[in-house]
Amino acid sequence: MLIRRTSRRTFIKNTAIMTGAAIARPHSASSRSLSITPRLSQFGYADVQLLDGPAREQFDRNHAFYRSLNEDSLLKPFRQRGGLPAPGEEMGGWYSWAPLSDLDKPGNNGFAPGHSFGQYLSGLARDYAATGDKATQEKVHRLVQGLGEAISPHFWDENRFPAYTYDKISIGMLDAHEFANDRQAFRVLDKTLASVEKRLPPGGISRAEQYARPHTDDSFCWDEPYTLPENQFLAWQRGAGNRYRDLAEHFLADSWYWDPLAADENVLPGKHAYSHVNAMSSAMQAYFVLGNDKYLRAARNGFDFVRAQSFATGGWGPDEEFCKPGSGDLGASLTKTHSGFETPCGSYAHFKITRYLLRTTKDSRYGDSMERVFYNCILGARPIKDDGHGFYYSDYNRDGSKFYHPYKWHCCTGTFSQITADYGISSYFQDNEGVYVNLFVPSRATWNRGSHSVVLTQRTGYPHLPTTQIEISTDKSESFSIFVRIPQWAGPKTFIAVNGRKAEGVPHPGQFACIHRAWKMGDRIEIEFDMPTRLEAVDPQHPRLMATVHGPLALFAVGQTPATVRAEELASVAQVSPGSMDWQVKAGAAVISMRPFTAIQDEQYRLYLEVES
Ligand SMILES: [Zn+2]
Repeated sequence: MLIRRTSRRTFIKNTAIMTGAAIARPHSASSRSLSITPRLSQFGYADVQLLDGPAREQFDRNHAFYRSLNEDSLLKPFRQRGGLPAPGEEMGGWYSWAPLSDLDKPGNNGFAPGHSFGQYLSGLARDYAATGDKATQEKVHRLVQGLGEAISPHFWDENRFPAYTYDKISIGMLDAHEFANDRQAFRVLDKTLASVEKRLPPGGISRAEQYARPHTDDSFCWDEPYTLPENQFLAWQRGAGNRYRDLAEHFLADSWYWDPLAADENVLPGKHAYSHVNAMSSAMQAYFVLGNDKYLRAARNGFDFVRAQSFATGGWGPDEEFCKPGSGDLGASLTKTHSGFETPCGSYAHFKITRYLLRTTKDSRYGDSMERVFYNCILGARPIKDDGHGFYYSDYNRDGSKFYHPYKWHCCTGTFSQITADYGISSYFQDNEGVYVNLFVPSRATWNRGSHSVVLTQRTGYPHLPTTQIEISTDKSESFSIFVRIPQWAGPKTFIAVNGRKAEGVPHPGQFACIHRAWKMGDRIEIEFDMPTRLEAVDPQHPRLMATVHGPLALFAVGQTPATVRAEELASVAQVSPGSMDWQVKAGAAVISMRPFTAIQDEQYRLYLEVES
């Protein structure tokens, strides 16, 4: 049984642009208002608390891990290049500074010195905002100060990735300022920009253009200047100065990326996957700041092209590249590579772009997409080890397993610190009418309304149980709406009850259900999702290679699997007991065991099984 995905065309049509025509506005030092205000706002980090569950566990583990990183080691490459005393152990792997010739030695030593410093700082600043943990705030302040003392133009000598590293330092400084109340952070950002300005590529050039310029070796052509505008627009919005807005505009990749994407031309094939999805958030910031619809069209079309070549997990980009539509390369990757999806980086970029698009369009299907990546990818990422070995690729090969990357302190150790910090703010959104419930995770959201606040407490075992409950706490009865994401896959028996009574109206899959009433203390919403099981082919060229998907959850076969299985049998997969992580398929006389990604440890697994024709 194959349930076809929504076609890209339908998706575009159904998410018609709701905003008006583009109006470019001049900017001045006194005015940092956006041309386009997203229709939904985010909650503050402090206003969403994750409660006990897998998301909270991963958040806590990462917070503790990054808080424990040695500060001298983190600052070492900056101090070494700045000619300062540089005590502390080398972190090794990508993070350390090393002569270029060292790259030939095992471990990729010195590949990208200090590349993830800003991301660790950003993650910690957000963790502080979410928890109020003073030790975390103080660590952020010390690291900002340390970088301010050490950063120098020499840091960028022989540096492969000045744009990439500057981009990450930017968000570190911006988040230190915004979320950890660091008064020095803008000054250090200014100093960092002054140190790197002459080393940055001449604009948001593509990798092809980088190859066409003089370069030391191929690795010097992999910088990501096209991702810069998002954080530079943010710097301007948060008050760092007009030069950052000018810089953002200077690095917009109009000619080779945004213009063709806006014209619905798929220019993704062959491009590096993560950085080009990450860049879509730059298009969204350009849309908000400049008010030009082109950038929204580019981001939406680009994201739809990505969705159209995604695995059943929501992950994309085998071997970190986008496939050519119609080539069958996605299916072919199942036997060719174990590098299925660059999980922490890809998930971080995926969460960001789906947040931006959801906030702009109110289309709940961006939340569906985020949810798939959440449960099937990032939430199942293995924890970072103390020595810096981290989870990088999800493996969708026929003989898949969870493995650590051989290189220490790679890119995904940077984004991992940020994405777990963002779980809370990805779960709820708000506007003047009410609160939008996007992710079904145990959590408590505080919606501030003038002088008083409404608290929503969500308790759930979702998606291993098909239900969630939300309790309202408010000191006065008040009319507003609670909007609940009804996933597109939801079946007709999905229902919503308020205080035990079925709510009026029928929830529509693929939309937010609106529950409007005068809410009072102790009111309860219960949602029961009708979770169908679907079989999804990896691509049209491999119609018999099917993944089993229950609700948002992709199921992975573990242990012995027969060469082929009947589609009806696969589709009748059953959970061994309510809430269990173990599922079974009765295939003739055999039983196939299946598990969600989060439950897999060291066992080999297979996502796509071959169904009999
Ligand atoms: Zn990565």
